Amino acid sequence: MKQLLRGGTVVSGEGQRVQDILIEDGKILEVGENLQDSGRDAEVTDVSKKLIFPGFIDGHTHMHLEVSGTVTADLFDTGTRAELAGGTTCIVDFATQNRGESLAEALENWHKKADGECSCDYAFHLAISDWNERISEELETVVSSGIHSFKLYMVYDAMMVDDQSMYEILSRLKELGGIAGVHCENSGIVKARLEEIKRKEGGRRDVGDYPGTRPALAEAEAVNRLLKIARCVDTPVIVVHLSSQEGYEEVQKAREKGQKVYVETCPQYLLLDEGRYQAGGLEARKYMIAPPLRTKKDQEVLWQALAGEQIQTVATDHCSFTLEQKEMGKDDFSMTPCGMPGAQERPALIYHYGVRGGRITLEQMCRCLSENPAKLYGLYPKKGVIAPGSDADLVVWDTKAKWTLQSKELQSASDYCPYEGASLSGRAEKVYLRGELAAENGEIIKAFLGQYVRGVHTNDRGFLLK
Ligand code: MN
Repeated sequence: MKQLLRGGTVVSGEGQRVQDILIEDGKILEVGENLQDSGRDAEVTDVSKKLIFPGFIDGHTHMHLEVSGTVTADLFDTGTRAELAGGTTCIVDFATQNRGESLAEALENWHKKADGECSCDYAFHLAISDWNERISEELETVVSSGIHSFKLYMVYDAMMVDDQSMYEILSRLKELGGIAGVHCENSGIVKARLEEIKRKEGGRRDVGDYPGTRPALAEAEAVNRLLKIARCVDTPVIVVHLSSQEGYEEVQKAREKGQKVYVETCPQYLLLDEGRYQAGGLEARKYMIAPPLRTKKDQEVLWQALAGEQIQTVATDHCSFTLEQKEMGKDDFSMTPCGMPGAQERPALIYHYGVRGGRITLEQMCRCLSENPAKLYGLYPKKGVIAPGSDADLVVWDTKAKWTLQSKELQSASDYCPYEGASLSGRAEKVYLRGELAAENGEIIKAFLGQYVRGVHTNDRGFLLK
């Protein structure tokens, strides 16, 4: 049975046009004006006065991650329900190699966690934490199996790679046609600052001290070091969850020298500031994420960079915990599992504060939430665009809906929403996953439709850069 979505305003990275969309077998068959004839035998849904976006893609999620002696509140089940309910039809989660494991084992572990559990489609990046000759050889198989993007950490003892490994991994990825996204923070600064607090105060109870342990300069130093290493290798890299003006300035300096750098930020760095840590106690620990929330000035710089298309993607870094889990840091804030939910909220936050707020255009929203992550991670044009042959992942966006963010109405298994009480205009009314109406007004209609998506090799991501 064909379906025809009639009269919606189809948004792309290039513009908006009132068009009909004809769907068959989970794919887009035709897009154009007045498709009545070719859609004669189709089931018709009137979507006039609504915006239609290509399904949003969240390129940075941590579902079912064991971390800090616990496991994230959202496994793939609730995590992808949250994504889908908000309009995200595909995530790219970080399959993470534990030290001593092969890459195949890491991927197998992540398939075990995700397969059959997902309500939106899913792809994987692979986080490499153990680098040696054997892993280098294995990378070739991994890349040919459809994993083209990798994650490297410059902090966290269990996962961080040193500068030599960074150089070697980037070189190998260059050979094989892969790209790395890197968590940039200087580990030494973070550790020394944590020790300083303990020496001065005898303990680490005051969460107000947390942002000082991960200063913007620690991010900037690591961004700079990464970019210098990448320049030695002569390969593009992605700076993930960029949070600060200082970090951004390092990116711009490198770009002025002709270097290709992609940048991701997250809604929390655009919308929340370090004032949240002054509340103290559990209220403050809700916002313990790494890098930490910054200042209003940093937010302004990031918004301008997004508007100037110097930031290519906005992802969630969804890494959710419950309040009870956040209590692990009751006596020592450094024991708090770091991370926040945000999967369901992301598109509506970017629409409300970004588009309605006059900071970015609808087309830019489409690019940073859908088209660009699809292109960056080898999912385009299967995902990220409304065109014949693409998956019929579609978001019917109601610009007039007014709603309030409330944790109890969201799909995440976390029991708080970082934006609790925010009144938003605009939300995902209907979400189609490969042609199936899978979510409506924040509720899941059809669960567990998610399929694994293999990335395709792409050599030139330069088209993303302005
Ligand atoms: Mn992350």
